[in-house]
Amino acid sequence: MPSEAQSHVLEFPGGYTRSVGPVIGRFLSELRDGRLVGVRTAGGRVLVPPSEYDPANGEPVTGEFVEVGPIGTVQTWSWVPRPLKSHPLDRPFAWALIRPDGADTALLHALDLGVFDEGADPPRFLKTGMRVRPKYRVERTGAIGDIECFVPEVTMINAPTRLEYRLQGGRALDRFLEGISEGRILGHRCGVCGEVIVPMKGLCPRDGVPTSEEVELPDTGTVTTFAVNNLPDPRAPEVPFVSAYILLDGAGLPMLALVAGIPADQVRMGMRVKAVWRPENEWGRTMANIRWFAPIEEPDVPFDAIKDYV
Ligand SMILES: [Zn+2]
Repeated sequence: MPSEAQSHVLEFPGGYTRSVGPVIGRFLSELRDGRLVGVRTAGGRVLVPPSEYDPANGEPVTGEFVEVGPIGTVQTWSWVPRPLKSHPLDRPFAWALIRPDGADTALLHALDLGVFDEGADPPRFLKTGMRVRPKYRVERTGAIGDIECFVPEVTMINAPTRLEYRLQGGRALDRFLEGISEGRILGHRCGVCGEVIVPMKGLCPRDGVPTSEEVELPDTGTVTTFAVNNLPDPRAPEVPFVSAYILLDGAGLPMLALVAGIPADQVRMGMRVKAVWRPENEWGRTMANIRWFAPIEEPDVPFDAIKDYV
């Protein structure tokens, strides 16, 4: 990102001891109330931050204010590995051009990705198209700094963002089931801890960051812990049946599945298993494509190697 754009954001808030005019004034007043608004141009575009004149043709704007965001999309970004004193954050962050949903323009702001090591590289999940939301200060004064920074959309799972979080999870699960419908097991590698999460959820449960790097895993794994069930289950071959946490080879988290092909009292922690798939012509977008996991002829994995996954 050009440095010209960076200086723009620094001078935009400015302190505003002078009159800001009705358009910017409205924008800042709404900001103080925790809302992002843009102004509609005569041509129908929504400008954020608003200006009194349409930069495209110099015509006055309509004066119709439109609430936008709060969620937005990163259009471009520039990583700041060593923030200066004058920067809004005291740890590595990105300057990002963010287009709030419903706006036709983007605003420049700091994007906090939870990176604390000075000099660190940008996290791999920082990408154009990333969904972010503003983090408002509790005490607001009517300045662009009322937004402390933007943060990745899915890392906040408190009530107001719950819906978006589920949508993200839904997309990842959709993709996972698409893989399953082709006989492939897909996971996401976390850009922070490097672990592969399967089935992928769109975020790392350990780090709370969004995940998108797809990794295909084999259908073999290790039983980390299990339960013997004596109540009939429509998915199970017979009673008693075994449900187990299975750590697929290469995965960083175990997944829950049935284990069959062995008497329930012979299932053990560390046992090596492989997925038993239904016939291909019965495959759909469902986990039922994998009937269960069955033991394979490999030595058990020592408990020490799986103790962190039980
Ligand atoms: Zn992680």
